[in-house]
Amino acid sequence: MNFALPPDLIEFRDMVKKFAQTYVQPTAEERDAQGSWDADIWKKMGEMGLLGLPFPEEYGGQGADCLTTTVATEAFAEGATDGGVTLAWGAHTIIGSMPIVLCGTPEQKQKYIPRLATGEWTAGLGLTEPGSGSDAAGSMETRAEKKGDRYVLNGSKMFITNGPIGDVFVVMAVTDKKKGAMGVSVFIVEKDFKGFSVGKKLNKMGMRTSTTSELIFEDMEVPAENLLTKENSGFVRVGRATLEWERTVLVASAIGSIQYLLDQSVKYAKNRVQFGEPIVRFQAIQDKIARARMRLDAARLLLYKSAVKKDRGESAPIESSIAKVYATEAMIDVTYDMGQIHGGYCFIHEYPIERSYRDARLGTLGGGTSEVMRSIIAANI
Ligand SMILES: Cc1cc2nc3c(=O)[nH]c(=O)nc-3n(C[C@H](O)[C@H](O)[C@H](O)COP(=O)(O)OP(=O)(O)OC[C@H]3O[C@@H](n4cnc5c(N)ncnc54)[C@H](O)[C@@H]3O)c2cc1C
Repeated sequence: MNFALPPDLIEFRDMVKKFAQTYVQPTAEERDAQGSWDADIWKKMGEMGLLGLPFPEEYGGQGADCLTTTVATEAFAEGATDGGVTLAWGAHTIIGSMPIVLCGTPEQKQKYIPRLATGEWTAGLGLTEPGSGSDAAGSMETRAEKKGDRYVLNGSKMFITNGPIGDVFVVMAVTDKKKGAMGVSVFIVEKDFKGFSVGKKLNKMGMRTSTTSELIFEDMEVPAENLLTKENSGFVRVGRATLEWERTVLVASAIGSIQYLLDQSVKYAKNRVQFGEPIVRFQAIQDKIARARMRLDAARLLLYKSAVKKDRGESAPIESSIAKVYATEAMIDVTYDMGQIHGGYCFIHEYPIERSYRDARLGTLGGGTSEVMRSIIAANI
């Protein structure tokens, strides 16, 4: 057991944090207020190599492992104080592209991954539907029917991150209703396919600097070569290959945010004077600071453990579920406590704590709710 990160990873972490502080943080408040997407930031992230960080080098990526990608996400979230862009990055790199990296044929990888690595194309995942969320496979309504050399898809997907700006989507659809999860297939869908359209951009409470929408498929034609893994086995295979990536890397955003909020709140508490002394001297304030630090350390260790297991080729369903539920709930608790330290200012838009408060809310919902994570943990026990 070695709890120290290697020096080159620390150097990379600091570089990513600086990048986010320089190019993302300065405009985060304004973009959040307007709910706007910034294509220039995305382009810069592509130039920095971030958009293809965990993709193999032979396909234009950086070949980073799960721990490196987790640490980079944490650093980006800390420096950017912008949950939306961090989410868009994770949706593109991890849930939108890693299914192709891990389950695609050489031809599929060659066609899509190099352009996804630079950011020329942006990816997303289409799993959730208006009537199917936690019971993703069982309640899925989107159907795919094979007709000659193509599949015809009908249905829609809900809450899709990068929907309005995406070029390529990994989409799940039922190919054999009788078989439940074993009757769901996965397709690589391009935005220009006939029958594909994007619903209106959703006006969100948080993560407002990312874009989210419905995807609609009306007799959408997908070439048979865009089937990802075998027919009927995609849901299980793609899920098995990518879920633990999602439940470590995307969740790392919470760790970066907690670190930022803690540092910021300690500074605030040292400067804010009430009853003739800095509020940091009050035990009730110290208690919140100590609790935040305890949650930060615990969440970080859980996430790193899950990432390291993944990099060793071991499966980590319990670890990644524990890390996900703990870190995202810790972030909600910490935003509350750090908000208390800021008093009334935590209620004012121009304080980053207010944005974090709204962004934090998605953590326990997206990518599997806390309730579902707990049921996975219990089932594995
Ligand atoms: C901003 C945003 C971005 C998103 N991005 C994407 C994306 O890019 N791609 C994508 O496919 N999806 C995306 N999602 C969807 C997200 O993953 C789902 O919202 C989530 O899986 C929960 O599904 P649901 O909203 O339908 O809730 P439901 O499944 O309807 O759950 C409602 C409540 O019931 C509880 N519940 C359900 N089943 C059980 C059970 N068995 N035991 C105990 N409690 C249960 C849940 O925990 C929850 O509290 C996004 C959502 C949001 C809000």
